[in-house]
Amino acid sequence: MNQQSRIYADYAASAPLRPEAAEAMERVATELNPAGQYKTGRDARRILEESREQIADLLGADPVEVVFTSSGTEADNIAIQGQALAAAAHRGARTIVSTNTEHPAVLESVQWLCDGPLDFGFRHRELPVDAYGRVDPRDPDTAQLLAELRDNPSDTALLTCMWANNETGNINPVATILDGQDSIATHVDAVQVVGHLPIDFHSLGAKTLAASAHKFGGPRSTGFLLASRHADILSPIRGGGQERGLRSGTVNVQGAAGTAAALASAMENMERENLAVRAARDAIAEVARTLDDVRIWTEEPALPGHLHMSLPGAEGDSLIMLLDAAGVDASTGSACSSGVNRASHVLTAMGVDVAVARGALRLTVGKGTSIPDATRIAQLLPGIVEQARTAGMA
Ligand code: PLP
Repeated sequence: MNQQSRIYADYAASAPLRPEAAEAMERVATELNPAGQYKTGRDARRILEESREQIADLLGADPVEVVFTSSGTEADNIAIQGQALAAAAHRGARTIVSTNTEHPAVLESVQWLCDGPLDFGFRHRELPVDAYGRVDPRDPDTAQLLAELRDNPSDTALLTCMWANNETGNINPVATILDGQDSIATHVDAVQVVGHLPIDFHSLGAKTLAASAHKFGGPRSTGFLLASRHADILSPIRGGGQERGLRSGTVNVQGAAGTAAALASAMENMERENLAVRAARDAIAEVARTLDDVRIWTEEPALPGHLHMSLPGAEGDSLIMLLDAAGVDASTGSACSSGVNRASHVLTAMGVDVAVARGALRLTVGKGTSIPDATRIAQLLPGIVEQARTAGMA
């Protein structure tokens, strides 16, 4: 099977580079150090600052609030560790509140602080989720926890909540969750949302927000943190003090230009692209819903390109290997890079049985997915599920 006829259905993991981003990066590929105090430095700095302004403008932030990083993971780490450490150092606050469905970039940072090899003295409080992994502010336990944080903010080091889950695509009501929490440190992992839904950083009210360029057609290994002027952050990245001292290291001008161009293209075409993406996803979902015993985890409100499901009796790895052999790139959705199929922590946090969770399949379509592509995936699914079930669980 040649590369051309393959169907890519793993957009949530990484999206193809947009042509606008490739062109912008090519244009600035030879730029030098933007911190240089001479002509080539000034030239590179101008491109960097234009990219920063463009991103700020597209997301309702001020340019000074855009901090370029090397990934979404790095942006999350700076925000989580940096705000928690600042809260402990400056206010003596030691409680970190988060869901158990966060991406490892957040989950592992929180675990490192609360339960790692060094005793920082942080405690974790869980923000509950429902059967679809969503925070429901109307749930009595959740409402009580959020009210406690509002009424007695002094011990809270950080409240963090992802905007949309990378496995299910389900969207959290982050604006409601953050409502009234102005006096504590707050972080939103918006890696799956930036470039896919409209965002206004100032009206959201989060102190920090993480984004990753390759999720919206920008270059891989490039991200940014939106960090309010009011955010108190002791960055774990130490060095020359670039990017407001939050992300030291020579800044990647080419990555910044590619990110800004990709974001501009994504925002400009968002409505049209989302309609087409949703239509492709729904064409697959229509068939997926008819599969025996299928459990569909993606539930509205959700990102338009996600379709996450479990097929009990089948192993997630078998499903993706069979799809791979049939020319479709898909994943189980679990953000584990070890290659070992374990039950996803997102599904288990949702209360899903381990045996059911292990049969997970995540199909995420995007701007390059045509309706014939979606139809092809839908046609393949029943046979592939049957084959995987015959192979059984390892
Ligand atoms: N947060 C979420 C919700 C993600 O989906 C991802 C990537 O899958 C990340 C953080 C990490 O982003 P990056 O791949 O840029 O490190």
